[in-house]
Amino acid sequence: MTTVGSITRQIAALELSAKQNTTANKTRPTHQKQGSGNVSKLLTKFAAPNPPTSKSIKPQASNSSISRLPTAGGQVGGKSTKAPTPLSREATQPAIDIGKYDGGLEIDEENRGKRVYGEAAEDLALDSSVIEHQPTREWHLSDFDIGRPLGKGKFGRVYMVRTKCEPKYILALKTLYKSEIVESRVEKQTRREIEIQQNLRHPHILRLYGYFHDEKRIFLMIEFAGKGELYKQLSKYGCFTEKRSSRYIDQMADALEYLHSKHVIHRDIKPENLLLGINGDLKIGDFGWSVHAPGNRRTTMCGTLDYLPPEMIEGKEHSKEVDLWALGVLTYEFLVGSAPFEERSHNETYKRIMRVDLRIPSRVSPEAADLIVKLLQHEPHHRLPLSEVRKHPWILKYRSRSSNSQPQN
Ligand code: AMP
Repeated sequence: MTTVGSITRQIAALELSAKQNTTANKTRPTHQKQGSGNVSKLLTKFAAPNPPTSKSIKPQASNSSISRLPTAGGQVGGKSTKAPTPLSREATQPAIDIGKYDGGLEIDEENRGKRVYGEAAEDLALDSSVIEHQPTREWHLSDFDIGRPLGKGKFGRVYMVRTKCEPKYILALKTLYKSEIVESRVEKQTRREIEIQQNLRHPHILRLYGYFHDEKRIFLMIEFAGKGELYKQLSKYGCFTEKRSSRYIDQMADALEYLHSKHVIHRDIKPENLLLGINGDLKIGDFGWSVHAPGNRRTTMCGTLDYLPPEMIEGKEHSKEVDLWALGVLTYEFLVGSAPFEERSHNETYKRIMRVDLRIPSRVSPEAADLIVKLLQHEPHHRLPLSEVRKHPWILKYRSRSSNSQPQN
């Protein structure tokens, strides 16, 4: 099986040769159609499979997947592209191994899910090729080579996949069974989650590149988080070092600042919803509870118990400051290894949250403790704003000059 290290080396080689090939092009690398060559690329924020709509795709070779490729000069990621540059010999790398497919999609297809009808069917007829602004190309399951299973979610499985068409992007394909979404009565929420994520572009938020559906399923094409679940790392190490925690909190605050600027409140921040990119960078992955709230406040009770702020427990109106509270809880959990108000019974946890009964172990540095205290304020408006979090001494202390490098334990 391909190791993360080997993927990283292959990407590094790709990036290197891309530099050699594009000396005239000083802009960020974009998704460019390549000539022949057996090369896989991991999708990053710089490389979006957002080729032209099917109307502008000229078939090139009728009976191969190449016929689905965008033509030279087509619209990629909303920008006009140049004619394809043939890859140099150095750039031609063996394809990244996507692992062995376990046949899970077919097994699921036989055993679970039904067709849905009526309004629910309309809500869930999700296809990014027909969205008004920024349509993607039309995608089908047959456009992908399916690789190893990455995990199972509530509504379906997630696989590592590679596009069959060049330049063979690697991504995570998430399946959602429509009838199960309807049974859980979350069709509107699912649609909202997808619409929100589709519009977000941030290095610490998993990018949703496109989506499509068939009779029973919705498929989400998501940026591949090469290092998997952050929660697993936390379980493995028990807790993180101050440096690693500070780097993650910095990246998290950066992502939340971006979300809030788009009037998106996350509302379900917790280690289980965070993934790690190929370079070890933190990536927010789950938007199940996000609310797009331009100005309005919400009163729905949601989120995980340990991360609930007092105003949500009390059923009061809540706003973006709920994410600041959760950031404080996350900081504590990274450093200590458990959530700050954790108790055996829900009732006890609620009580401790309401009293802000915070006990920070002495092994936590005074700077980190200061940040935790400033975020875990009962009164939402007293919580340290994200712009201040990003300037906090504990964050600045560990921020490297080349900011986005990998947090180390
Ligand atoms: P979810 O349905 O989002 O909870 O995903 C189920 C599991 O699949 C997660 O816990 C991850 O282990 C894995 N997974 C989901 N999305 C990705 C991704 N973009 N990259 C890598 N692994 C993922």
